[in-house]
Amino acid sequence: MITLPELPYAKDSLAPVISANTLEFHHGKHHKAYVDNLGKLIAGTDLADRDLETIIAKVAGDSAKAGIFNNAAQVWNHTFYWNCLKGGGGGAPTGPVAAEITATWGSYQKFAEELKNAGVTQFGSGWAWLVRDGGQLKITKTANADTPLAHGQKPLLTIDVWEHAYYLDYQNRRPDYLAAVIEKLINWDFVNANLG
Ligand code: MN
Repeated sequence: MITLPELPYAKDSLAPVISANTLEFHHGKHHKAYVDNLGKLIAGTDLADRDLETIIAKVAGDSAKAGIFNNAAQVWNHTFYWNCLKGGGGGAPTGPVAAEITATWGSYQKFAEELKNAGVTQFGSGWAWLVRDGGQLKITKTANADTPLAHGQKPLLTIDVWEHAYYLDYQNRRPDYLAAVIEKLINWDFVNANLG
């Protein structure tokens, strides 16, 4: 049984970068709808009692099961995204990921610029990511519900760039939303924990 996880913080704790109103809709309506839709699609099937990662792995690439993949991946991506954020976060990283970012991109500033650019240039809906891919840190983007989990990559950090993530607060200004999240909300403790 896949259920909607609680947000890991109060709904007003990301304001003013992301308002309580946005979280009310984004978590309470959009994320919940993916959970509800997935539940209906897998009810009574051999996927009903599996965990999300197993469901995603089993249906990835199966066009007959795209609905299951899309909803399962969106449930996973959103839960991961909530954990990537915290009030008073963002800016230059701390911990082991700081050295890896400097080794890979030369500086935090260059990394931040490329992460923002990945989100800005994702055409339509999708996600910007920091992943580990074969031992190498990479910045990637995925369309719609797609997730690095389906491509053999380990997600370390994500930013949702669907319009529902920012439209109430930023209207069409996706670059401003990305810049503010990167500068003020990234939970580097969570990213470090994902480095494993
Ligand atoms: Mn979303």
